[in-house]
Amino acid sequence: MRIDGAGGCFDNRVYEVDFAVAWQIILLVAAEMAIKIEEQDNEAHLISGSIGKKIVNIALQKLDEETCQVIVDTRRKVLQIYSWKPEEKEVNAFYESFENKLKEFAAFILCPRCRSKISSSVKFCPECGLQVK
Ligand SMILES: [Zn+2]
Repeated sequence: MRIDGAGGCFDNRVYEVDFAVAWQIILLVAAEMAIKIEEQDNEAHLISGSIGKKIVNIALQKLDEETCQVIVDTRRKVLQIYSWKPEEKEVNAFYESFENKLKEFAAFILCPRCRSKISSSVKFCPECGLQVK
């Protein structure tokens, strides 16, 4: 569902992906987009920050064992109530990058040492640090 207007954009999309992997990808995308993170809650899976003059909020929610939803919400720091021009540039960029990374992460392997399910694209197991490539 997308809501545009008032200098902001809200969107939520549902993905079939492991929750931990989704969170990892969100952090990667946030770093890549140079989102200035002001608050990062690794338990509630929330990020608040900014890109330039916009406030960015990202949330990850678990829907069931296989699916989770990614919510991206941007708005101008100064709300322009007279402007209903869509401001979805950052939201689109976020989902595009997220979905590209998701494809890269789609393949999983089991870590030979700790048996964690890990992405096939990592060089080191994020759980135990074993080099897997
Ligand atoms: Zn491991």
